[in-house]
Amino acid sequence: DIQLSERVERVKPSPTMAVTARAAEMRAAGHDIIGLGAGEPDFDTPEHISEAAIQAIRNGQTRYTPVDGTPALKQAIQAKFERDNGLEYEANQILVSSGAKQSLYNLFTAVLNAGDEVVIPAPYWVSYPDMALLADGVPRIVEADQSQRFKITPAQLDAAITERTRIVVLNSPSNPTGSAYSRAEFEALGEVLRRYPQVLIASDDIYEHILWTEEAFSNIAMVCPDLVDRTVVVNGVSKAYAMTGWRIGYAAGPARVIGAMKKIQSQSTSNASSISQAASVAALDGDQGVIAPMVKAFRERHDYVVERLNAMRGVSCIAGDGTFYAYPDVSEAITNIEGVSSDTVLAEYLIGEANVALVPGTAFGLPGHARISYATSMENLEKAMDRLEGVFGRD
Ligand code: PLP
Repeated sequence: DIQLSERVERVKPSPTMAVTARAAEMRAAGHDIIGLGAGEPDFDTPEHISEAAIQAIRNGQTRYTPVDGTPALKQAIQAKFERDNGLEYEANQILVSSGAKQSLYNLFTAVLNAGDEVVIPAPYWVSYPDMALLADGVPRIVEADQSQRFKITPAQLDAAITERTRIVVLNSPSNPTGSAYSRAEFEALGEVLRRYPQVLIASDDIYEHILWTEEAFSNIAMVCPDLVDRTVVVNGVSKAYAMTGWRIGYAAGPARVIGAMKKIQSQSTSNASSISQAASVAALDGDQGVIAPMVKAFRERHDYVVERLNAMRGVSCIAGDGTFYAYPDVSEAITNIEGVSSDTVLAEYLIGEANVALVPGTAFGLPGHARISYATSMENLEKAMDRLEGVFGRD
């Protein structure tokens, strides 16, 4: 057999794959499957953004750009950080990548040595632990369940940090739970982090704009200015501007870390697409009014889905603060169904019995739950909730 690296062998195939594969199979066989698994807005990219990309092609912006991004996009990102976050960065503190995902991958690869630990609150975005493993790091999972609104406490954070800890990941609002930390909560976590100067904070702000709390968006760098020097803020255009396919994300942080990330990117993928970068300038500099109608739709769907879920037998779902995900506790519902022993089995069962595809909580490090993406039409959601209720029954 051809030898594969230990690195790649370390990474487990995604537990969501079984469900996705099964859903595709069922669809191919003619079943009307409603997919609630998508991690992307169902809206089209706003017209002025697409138009900027077309213009870029016509203007011949079709060549390599600087590895870390075009000057125009880096300026737009600097302006965005000032406008939305009150954070000021020099140009050498910013790196444009092919998605926030690549920004995070660059970060882990730039910072971790073998055995270094990454503190990852669970439920987590599926890629954090595997990215840590690919960079020879060790994920240290900190579990936060529904009773704590899926948010870790300062005591939990303190207990998770060791002398091997190099990165703490914070994702607010969160995929998969929709929970966001408040300013006060960030302040309390910051107090812990202050005691561990060797620890870098990765603030994944990708859902920044998809938020409906009374309190405005914040991240730890905004709340604890003294921690800016060791925080890498990761963001992008994918979710806010319905631009998942364009693949533009960015990171901002200490020049040394950003420089190291840039070096890795320069030897792996170089610059992100020149055309997508031009589109992203239009997204960040253009009319921000395009975001609100999408957030309004997400919120209406959120309210509907959460209410329907809570009326189902053995299902309990807290209201989210943002994103387009609900993360109901289905542990009781599982025990009510003959032959279903876990959330993973439940997800497969639901595809067959209800023709609804969702992602089991196990994929996000907190079993007994399911992630429901409501980035789909209200019509689909109504049908999907009726079908789920058909399986679970009513309270
Ligand atoms: N971070 C989180 C929490 C996400 O949910 C996603 C996308 O699903 C990403 C980062 C990556 O976004 P992108 O690479 O499209 O910018």
